[in-house]
Amino acid sequence: MIDFRVEPKFQEKLKWMDTFVREECELVDLLFPRAVDMYDVKNSKARDIIRPLQEKVKAQGLWACHLGPHLGGPGYGQVKLALMNEIIGRSNWAPTIFGTQAPDTGNAEILALFGTEEQKRRYLDPLMAGEIVSCFSMTEPQAGADPKEFECKAWAEGDEWVIEGEKWFSSNARFAEFLIVMAVTNPENKPHERMSMFLVPGDAPGIEIIRNSKIMSDSPDPDDDSGAHAYIRYNKVRVPKDAMLGEPGQAFKVAQARLGGGRIHHAMRTVGMCGRAIEMMLERAVSRQTQGKRFADHQFVQGMIGDSICELEQFRLLVLKTAWLIDESEAGREEHGAARPWIGMCKVTLAKVFHDIVHRAVHLHGSLGASLETPLYKMWAGIPSLSVADGPTEVHKIQVAKHFLKKAIPGDRLFGTDHIPTRLEKAKRHFAAELVNA
Ligand SMILES: Cc1cc2nc3c(=O)[nH]c(=O)nc-3n(C[C@H](O)[C@H](O)[C@H](O)COP(=O)(O)OP(=O)(O)OC[C@H]3O[C@@H](n4cnc5c(N)ncnc54)[C@H](O)[C@@H]3O)c2cc1C
Repeated sequence: MIDFRVEPKFQEKLKWMDTFVREECELVDLLFPRAVDMYDVKNSKARDIIRPLQEKVKAQGLWACHLGPHLGGPGYGQVKLALMNEIIGRSNWAPTIFGTQAPDTGNAEILALFGTEEQKRRYLDPLMAGEIVSCFSMTEPQAGADPKEFECKAWAEGDEWVIEGEKWFSSNARFAEFLIVMAVTNPENKPHERMSMFLVPGDAPGIEIIRNSKIMSDSPDPDDDSGAHAYIRYNKVRVPKDAMLGEPGQAFKVAQARLGGGRIHHAMRTVGMCGRAIEMMLERAVSRQTQGKRFADHQFVQGMIGDSICELEQFRLLVLKTAWLIDESEAGREEHGAARPWIGMCKVTLAKVFHDIVHRAVHLHGSLGASLETPLYKMWAGIPSLSVADGPTEVHKIQVAKHFLKKAIPGDRLFGTDHIPTRLEKAKRHFAAELVNA
């Protein structure tokens, strides 16, 4: 039985979070609107403000909630995490303040699962404490959505690995204490078993950041150095033998441990952003007037609000069901990986729902919506990233379709199993006796 209920004590925690995010985190968003400030742990102005807030979160037992107890977190499970993340999603800074900031969340999972004790001590502990940030360096400039096209390679020399090649859009590399890098080590293997994952210290000689790209929500001013998505060249970067995370050729398995979680967490936070956009629409609808009546009393406006609420509710239920499926798998009641197609569905749906709802919210705010004076502009500018980061919509649609096609059984070649004349004949034969007596 699907059940999304949480106990009253946890409901209290959610209530605390909701007030805290609105009254504290959203204010930090106003003071430090540049995304780059969230990752720059040396920005003491911002850190002085967020450190006491992080302590409050820790005191509530709400820090780094994406990790289970076996990985050093409180382990609330995905359904509770979904309810928490939809509150966190309202604010850009809240993930940093709650210790659930991507890509550190996924990187922490990888380190916890595949790191040595020494690597965990050196990197996982300060990462979990919010003292350092990390980078996941996978996409390449000539190949993004299809890792089978990757060229960055690594080979063994003595008791070291040497990494050579280019990566693209490695977010936060400029601030990262360590990078997790995917490189081809076994080119002779099957396509999905050619690459391995490496832990590379941020100060390793040979790491060259060619440039830090900005995205649409960053400042277009060429003198503003706030790009955070690095185009990197690894110039024969040397790391020790134990820098390989997982087995040789098993980078996909290691990445899967990370990306699955990341995608569903993005979806959970998107529910929160959509909720905020709808809240703004509702307020606007009852605040403004035109043609002698409130916006709220015009049917076009009601239509926009009705569509938005219905779409968000469908999306939210999909996210909660996916979260529940992950929890069921963890508990052994569903097979391992049962949620994977649903995680894909969340990824596909989030881009469309977010686009449609934010567009209506922007539109309903008229010129104010088109301005830089509401949080809507950042949401709108984030849409292109949401639909490609962690793989474009098309790739996930294909995976979802393949999952269901694998189980599909061929029917009659000409007319199919649901052909009415054929079924009608069957129905007549099935109820022949009753039909004679009728
Ligand atoms: C804000 C942001 C942060 C990111 N952070 C990181 C990071 O930290 N680390 C990292 O490694 N990467 C990161 N990425 C990169 C991200 O993972 C890639 O953008 C993504 O995998 C797509 O690769 P690409 O950009 O090369 O697009 P491409 O692979 O070139 O795809 C472009 C378009 O081609 C079409 N397409 C591609 N494949 C198919 C297909 N199979 N079928 C049909 N159509 C298809 C789609 O329309 C797609 O949108 C980030 C991206 C963004 C936007």
